[in-house]
Amino acid sequence: MNGSVAGYIRDATPEELAELSHGVQVIDENKEFTTKLPLYLSSQGLLAAGFGYHVVSVFGSQSTGKSTLLNHLFGTDFNVMDETARQQTTKGIWLSRAKEDEKQSEFGMTRNILVMDVEGTDGRERGEDQDFERKSALFALATSEVLIVNIWEHQVGLYQGANMGLLKTVFEVNLGLFLKDQSTTHRSLLFFVIRDHIGHTPLKNLSKTLVADLTRIWSSLAKPPGLENSQITDFFDFEFTALPHKILQPEKFIAESQTLRKRFREGVSLGVEANELPEGEKEGIFLPAYHRRIPADGFPMYAENIWNQIVSNKDLDLPSQQELLAQFRCDEIAANCTAGFNEIIAPFEKHAQSGKVLEGLGPAMKQALSTALETFQEAGGRYHKGVFERKREDLRNALETRLRGLVVGQLSALSKRAVAEFTEDVTNVLKKANASDSASATYDFAKIVQESRDAVITRFKQAADECFIPGESTAWSSHDDELEMLQSDIDEIAKRLRGEEMKRLVTRLERGIKTKLTEPVELEFKRMDETLWDRIWKTWKDTVDHAVQQFDSKSRSFNSTEEETELGVWRLKKRGWAVLLARIEEEVLEGNLLLKLRESFEDKFRYDDTGVPRVWKPQDDIEGAYTRAREATLTLIPRISEFKLSTTGSAPDLTAYFGSAPANASIDDSDAPASESFEILSEARQHDITTKFRRMADGMFVEAKRGAIGGVAQ
Ligand code: GDP
Ligand code: MG
Repeated sequence: MNGSVAGYIRDATPEELAELSHGVQVIDENKEFTTKLPLYLSSQGLLAAGFGYHVVSVFGSQSTGKSTLLNHLFGTDFNVMDETARQQTTKGIWLSRAKEDEKQSEFGMTRNILVMDVEGTDGRERGEDQDFERKSALFALATSEVLIVNIWEHQVGLYQGANMGLLKTVFEVNLGLFLKDQSTTHRSLLFFVIRDHIGHTPLKNLSKTLVADLTRIWSSLAKPPGLENSQITDFFDFEFTALPHKILQPEKFIAESQTLRKRFREGVSLGVEANELPEGEKEGIFLPAYHRRIPADGFPMYAENIWNQIVSNKDLDLPSQQELLAQFRCDEIAANCTAGFNEIIAPFEKHAQSGKVLEGLGPAMKQALSTALETFQEAGGRYHKGVFERKREDLRNALETRLRGLVVGQLSALSKRAVAEFTEDVTNVLKKANASDSASATYDFAKIVQESRDAVITRFKQAADECFIPGESTAWSSHDDELEMLQSDIDEIAKRLRGEEMKRLVTRLERGIKTKLTEPVELEFKRMDETLWDRIWKTWKDTVDHAVQQFDSKSRSFNSTEEETELGVWRLKKRGWAVLLARIEEEVLEGNLLLKLRESFEDKFRYDDTGVPRVWKPQDDIEGAYTRAREATLTLIPRISEFKLSTTGSAPDLTAYFGSAPANASIDDSDAPASESFEILSEARQHDITTKFRRMADGMFVEAKRGAIGGVAQ
């Protein structure tokens, strides 16, 4: 063919001009590319337009009003299916120049729009038609700056209904054949026109669904090397618009088509007429980025080359009748097998939402899956081997994905159950042990934990193993990770329970210390000589040391760590000290203390050195005895006032005894630092008690005096 240079084109004959008046059939029903394209362009005065032209075409299911739309938007005269006859339109791709509005050139608007209409047939399931459909769709996509994707509103979101499968193939081959050529740019606009838009669902939501579908399709494409990570947006822009129902809302349909018609004419054509948009001019739909940069006189050859590549591409070839049959039958059989599978599995899926363990899941899964696959094998195995095998894998994948969902839920439910059982088990045993024996509980914490841990993990493994499906593609049903997680969860809980148990043990031993200290401390206070605090210190230390020993051996049987034991010991000593301080506090309550002082004073004043009660006579040195007894007793007050060892003359080294606080000491209330003060009586209290004691002693002195005189008088 010729047509690369405008000058070579002969003039069209009058018959040809008449034939071309409604456009040219670029590709006919025999997949032949026309020789008349240059003639058509020249008859439209377009051959010399340079870059000053645009190509738009349409994509969509059969009889969705594509031709009608194009005619409304571009004033073309494409064949529209006759309502009454419902006859099949001829196949082929037609091209026609958009009719220009009268004032279009005056206003510098976009001109020279070439519109392509793709016609097909209604017999979509026939292989032959699919073949043409794919090839013509790809041709439209590859050559056009703007591809109008025509779709019913109710097709949005339906993969098959919306021709998404076809779009996927077309995208895939387009990417492999044309887009991978990186020497030119190939950006196109996918202009979605949603037809019969009722308005319940806003356009925004419909667009979102479409973009999501397209993105998904794109990510599932086989991509040529170098473009593996390409995004759909690297090659396409999107626009969305909606039109009302043509038959039900005819006026609205016309009005909105007109608005759309204007939009397609906004902006200025590239090339000969204007290179740049005038200031303030609206950008149109045909952006410069979409232009293929083929001068108009080269377009016929460019388009023909594209068509030839498409026709000779194997990826677009129609499958053999045998394969088509196999596809059809295998799909039917797979649907049956899935239905059988559903009967068993759907009830489990329903219950799975409760998050509980599904009893009997494992065997049911195995049965459902193997029955489905065996049935498929039996019924489908006779068909085309390649197709059968592919469909079997599809089926297996689909079913296994469903089962995977169940297994994930089941493992998580089993884990939860194991954790709950373990916690309950151990807590119960501890509760019982603690209730039956408070002071020296003899249970073996580590053993209880180990036994319960073993039991729940064995149970988990058994139930999880049931869900395991052996086979090549079933690494998904292994539960190693879940098991590992469960074990560490349980260990965490065991650690927490042990911590609580150790705290309880400390509390129990603390109580023991308190009981054991009560009498000895009272006893030591009977003798308030200079060794008072040495004796109390020793008594206390012996008691606490003993408790520490008990704690140590007990906590070892818990299997606790060094740090945990250390923390417990530290805590116990601290609490033991607090117990002692409280005990001493009781001893030195005012009443108790006065009583002690009184006893000491009386010992010296009312009894002689041999312990015989004195009967005072007037000549006795009552004043002397009184003063000696009083002074001796008064020395006790400072002694009691401060916890001080006679051996060192200072307070005991408590810090050394406690040891430094362990790093893991979480200071809760019970760990609140016990007072390490050694002051037993404050200055004020000393003063107070001294005064009170003196008054009491004075009273006794006066009484003694009176007694002495009175004794003589009698
Ligand atoms: P094509 O096969 O996609 O090109 O569809 P046609 O343009 O030939 O139209 C097919 C049928 O749909 C015709 O009977 C039209 O009258 C009808 N049709 C066209 N546009 C619309 C529309 O917007 N809504 C409805 N419901 N029908 C339409
Ligand atoms: Mg049509």
